[in-house]
Amino acid sequence: MEKKLIIAVDGYSSCGKSTFAKLIAKELDYLFIDSGAMYRAVTLYAIRNEMIQNEKLNIAELINALPMVNIDFRYIADRKEYETFLNNENVEDAIRKLEVSKYVSPVSQIREVRDKMVELQREIGVFKGVVMDGRDIGTIVFPDADIKIFMTASPEIRARRRFNEISAKGQEVNYNEILENINYRDNSDSGRKISPLKKASDAIELDNSDMTLEDQMKWFRNILKRVRNEN
Ligand code: C5P
Repeated sequence: MEKKLIIAVDGYSSCGKSTFAKLIAKELDYLFIDSGAMYRAVTLYAIRNEMIQNEKLNIAELINALPMVNIDFRYIADRKEYETFLNNENVEDAIRKLEVSKYVSPVSQIREVRDKMVELQREIGVFKGVVMDGRDIGTIVFPDADIKIFMTASPEIRARRRFNEISAKGQEVNYNEILENINYRDNSDSGRKISPLKKASDAIELDNSDMTLEDQMKWFRNILKRVRNEN
């Protein structure tokens, strides 16, 4: 039987990491975990519990409340996907709102939040056969991951893709606001002190600015073949 792998997909916001990682997981029949969804769920909890006042996050209050924040992923048969649950409520759609994107960076800079999320991510990884996407999966969560991919694409292309995605759902959206949010998150994710977004020394870079999803899968299959031959 083929060895089950841990595959880390890190990179900038809105690079298509989740779409790509999901497709890899489907092809290999692995579990897909969107680690960003976990930070988004904590952020949603903070917003709903009024821990953000006048655009300022009450860090101490959120740290105190962390034992009450329970996040898990459950399989939704209709959508054939795992979705994010916060305290037993399906929050998959709620965590994608721009309001959550706006505050997720400060929330994810809190050490106590990261410690809790990383512990959960490692628990999931124990089973192997996992594709996890995020910012620090190849550097902190699974430094021994079998395949590490670091994704990039130009901010304008990323904003355009996100714009198309949201408009396709019939939701009102502003391109410049999205681009601003992407630039802001790139800076704060790369510049933060704890677990900054950076390419692991042994990660393989994938700039998908001009690639279709099928191009990206072809690229991945070559990498996979190489890794399997080496093992
Ligand atoms: O991947 P996504 O854009 O949904 O992630 C939302 C935010 O969560 C990121 O902007 C980043 O601040 C944070 N994050 C993180 N570490 C991860 C995944 C996401 O800090 N592993």
